[in-house]
Parts: sequence; structure tokens; C-alpha cells
Amino acid sequence: MGAFPFRYLGLPLFNARITQDMYQPLLDKIKARIMNWANHCLSYAGKALLVNSVIFGLHNFWGASVLLPKGIAKRIIKLCKDFFWGVAEGTRRHVFLKWQLLCSPKLEGGIGIKEVLSWNCAQMMKWVWKLFHRPHCIWAKWISTYVLKGACVWDAQQTVSNSWYWNNVLKMKNLLLEIAGSPSQALLLLDACTVQTRYSTDTMYGHIRARRQKVYWAPLIHGKGCNPKHSVTGVMVMQDGLPTVDKLISRGMCFVNRCALCERSCEDIPHLFFNCEFSKQVLNAVGSWVLMPLESFSLDSLMQAVLPTRSNVMVHTSLLATIYYLWKERNDRIFKGSKSTVETLSIVIRKVVTLRLYGSTFS
Ligand SMILES: [Zn+2]
Repeated sequence: MGAFPFRYLGLPLFNARITQDMYQPLLDKIKARIMNWANHCLSYAGKALLVNSVIFGLHNFWGASVLLPKGIAKRIIKLCKDFFWGVAEGTRRHVFLKWQLLCSPKLEGGIGIKEVLSWNCAQMMKWVWKLFHRPHCIWAKWISTYVLKGACVWDAQQTVSNSWYWNNVLKMKNLLLEIAGSPSQALLLLDACTVQTRYSTDTMYGHIRARRQKVYWAPLIHGKGCNPKHSVTGVMVMQDGLPTVDKLISRGMCFVNRCALCERSCEDIPHLFFNCEFSKQVLNAVGSWVLMPLESFSLDSLMQAVLPTRSNVMVHTSLLATIYYLWKERNDRIFKGSKSTVETLSIVIRKVVTLRLYGSTFS
């Protein structure tokens, strides 16, 4: 698989074409990696990290050379989604949070997974950038002499007589015009994507991807001292994306709604983390440690209450750790049959937060 992009480095110059079945090694490699991870008990943060590093590395390697067909990109996205939500092959997937939302940057309420199609377009946009910023490279000279023959690139159209690769570059040119609005604005955008004379795929990706409103709670959830595992669970709670019993019932996956922590009330996010008697006791214990009455809020109002004390890293780090350990305790009770007491849980939270912030345990 590794040899593929090198074998086709001649693509930009010659009239070669990549067929769908030539992408199979890429899909096989991604599947093999995911199969290797299937037996590990991974948190959402761990899975997001693997998607954004290992799987990203694989399609990034191919995407640097070719524009991935939409069908292939969709299959890669499906493999990533199934892995993230823990869906076995051939079974139905129940999604609790839109993938596009998870792919948003952290400041916009997502967890920063790179969106495959937009990233690939940003990579391939480099060829349009080269026409203006590297006019003396062999490819740009070839295009201007033998393909454009003095014509303006903005007027060039995709035709059947063009090479497959040039048509892909023209697709990117059209996308750039669509984003920028006019050729002059497109040139300014290409200039903006030039960082220290080099093309910045990341900057272009920021212009191509779908944008969302920034969320006020992002700086707290991903702030200094926050454990990534706790932060991702925090995002899932704020975006109402955890698979709680009320959601499972609404999809016919469960029939009895009973909170695993107090074993009395129905389970939903507000109950599980704030209204449950067990959770209140844990919040009370942690709150008395950080000198903030955590148990008297909803998560949303608590986030807003913590905002003025943003400098108080201890408060929001402890709050996120509490949410993470309450969710973990709920899962341990359901899937492992093990139970922790309020005291044990609050001691674990205090230990983890102290270790994270000060690099030592409290006495
Ligand atoms: Zn409860």
C-alpha cells in the first residue's frame, strides 16, 4: 500500500487515472488497524485520538497525491464512525451525535476530528496554489505551456479531452471560486494560505470545512489542566450525545429506564449528573474540596457560574473529572457489576485532579 502514491507521482503530468479498486489497499489497511484496536477497552477520547492520528495518517498519505472519490471517502468515514461508536461489522449503527459535529474544532463544540473530504480538497488545492505561487516548478510550466497555452486558469473548464488529474485540479479551482466568490478574492485566499512561503493545508481546510458558532463552554472543557478523556466526555454531555437509557429506549434498544446509580429514578443526562442522589453526594464531596457548591447547579448553569472563575483551574478540572467518573461508575455498574462508594469515587477524583495539576498526590 505504501508504494502507491510514489508509483503515481507522475499523475499530475500524464494522462493516468486511478480506478476505484486501486483504493482497496487503503480501505484494507484502515480495517486492519481498527480490527487490532477492537479488543482494547478504549475511551471516546482514545478512539478520537486514533482516528485523528493513525487513520488520518493513512488517508492523508493518499490524499496528498489524489482526489479521493466521494464513495471511497464515505467508506473511510463509515469505518471511522463505526469504530468510534463501537459498532460491529454488519450490525446497525445508532448514532447519538452527528459525525459532522464531532469533526468540528474544539472551540465550535466538536472534538477536532479531521473531516476526510474537506481535508482531501484542502490537500489537492495545493495544485491551484502552485500555479500562482510556484509558477517555475515543472508541473506549473507544463500546465501553462501545453494545457492552458496562455489562457487564464480561471476560465479553464473540465472537459472529457482533459487528463483525469487536470480535471481534478479544475474541480478544486471551481471549489475555490465558490468559496472566495471571485478570482481576485480567490487569489487573496491563496495568499492567506501561504505560511513562510509554503502552502498551509490546515489554513485552507479552515476555509473549506463547514463552520459552526463558537460555544462558550469550550475554553473551560479543553482548558489548561483538563484530561483529554474528561474533556471528550464533557463535550458529549454538553452536546447531549451520551447513550443514556432514555435515548436507548427511544430507539427500541432498551425497555426499562432505571438509573444505575440510585436504582430509583429514570436515567437521562440531567438526572445522571446532577439530580441523582448518588451524583449529588459525589458533587457535594468534590465541591467542598474545591470550595464551590457543585451539587446545586445544572451542567449548563454550572458552566456559566464557573466562567467568571475561569482562572480557577481546580474547579473546572474537578467538575470534568467528576462527570467522567460518574459516567464510568454508571458503566461499571451496568457492564461489570462492580460498585464504588461515594467516598471511594470522590477520593479517586481528588487524586486524579491533584496529580494532573500538581504532579503529586494529595495527603
Ligand atoms: Zn439516579
